[in-house]
Amino acid sequence: MSAELSALLAGLDRRLPALHALYRDLHAHPELSHQEFRTAGIVAARLREQGWTVTEGVGGTGVVGVLASGPGPVVLLRADMDALPVREATGLPYASTRTAVDAAGDEVPVMHACGHDVHVTCLLGATALLAANRHAWQGTVVAVFQPAEEVGGAPAMVADRFAERFPRPAVCLAQHVAPAPAGLVATRSGPFMSASDSLAVRLHGRGGHGSTPAATVDPVVMAAAVVMRLQTVVAREVAADQSAVVTVASLHAGTRENVIPDTADLTINIRSATPAVRSQLLDAVERVVRAEAAASAAPQEPEITVINGFPVTVNDAEATASVQAMFRTTLGPDRVIDLHQPLTGSEDFGAFGTGLGAPSVYWTFGGLDPASFQGVDLLQDGIPPEIPHNHSPLFAPIPDPTVELGVRYLLMAAAPWLTPPKP
Ligand code: ZN
Ligand code: ZN
Repeated sequence: MSAELSALLAGLDRRLPALHALYRDLHAHPELSHQEFRTAGIVAARLREQGWTVTEGVGGTGVVGVLASGPGPVVLLRADMDALPVREATGLPYASTRTAVDAAGDEVPVMHACGHDVHVTCLLGATALLAANRHAWQGTVVAVFQPAEEVGGAPAMVADRFAERFPRPAVCLAQHVAPAPAGLVATRSGPFMSASDSLAVRLHGRGGHGSTPAATVDPVVMAAAVVMRLQTVVAREVAADQSAVVTVASLHAGTRENVIPDTADLTINIRSATPAVRSQLLDAVERVVRAEAAASAAPQEPEITVINGFPVTVNDAEATASVQAMFRTTLGPDRVIDLHQPLTGSEDFGAFGTGLGAPSVYWTFGGLDPASFQGVDLLQDGIPPEIPHNHSPLFAPIPDPTVELGVRYLLMAAAPWLTPPKP
């Protein structure tokens, strides 16, 4: 490790117990998207204690810290703060037992099932070191704690006059914990995460008695046909070398066994790795929904509503090469994976780079016990399906060494801009 990077990371070891305690606290107190009040309060208080200039309430519950150390490039580091409506089943001593009222007014369980508590902890560890080791770097760091990543909260922060209120970044950096062995980090140049589009569909039938279906238009059968037909879109319409997913993740109709309902409601999630496939999928889904309604003689056109949409997350080639080189020289080449294709997951992080006119670099890092991967060739076989993935009620990153590594990755990635080699 270079002397500059060592100076930047000095004191990390003795901060780890407090960071692990912070992680367990955040994990036990997850908050749904746009409700990150407690988390944002903790973030703002910690940043102020560390000596950062803090702005709260950016784009909702977002928090932005700014710290300067002389002239030099501006680096934006971003962590997301929200959790998911999932009932935790990890059995950990610090597992969440919390519930909250969601945007639809329903009480739901809440869990940090995507690991955003890891991201918040790691960025607060990095900001502590940046403040304590100010002599070791030059420039300005903008630390962004973003609300509502799961539902696309980043554009709201950018739209909240981000560019006018905060220093304009030379690069935007972010990371995500993944169901891979702790110690591995993965990135790629170009498209990294897929585009994601979520739609809500209401199919209209004509309700009636369960004993006289001929007098009705049954929306349950219509919905079943839509679900099955949608599964042919990727299988039969998208080229085999393109990455694409169409998932119907919720389907609701009816109240009891002898009443045929009037309507059926579906939510559909669509993932794609290129703009062309994205529009192909959106067109095909709409065509199938409308055609199946027509095939059932629906008395009314189906309603198709956009819930949210994220574009493809793209890593800038030059900036990614700098980060990869730093990872490789510091960690060793066998710990740094160059992904061959974009992941099917999605991110709204790209909104910062796009909205602020700066290159972005995004990477994922393993957070699970390497012992659970014994005998698995990750590059050959990928992550085994029995390993709990993000959004699973069993997804449980191990705090040691994941938190420490996440802090290191953030500062390693920022180092090419903050600690340029002396001429
Ligand atoms: Zn997620
Ligand atoms: Zn996530």
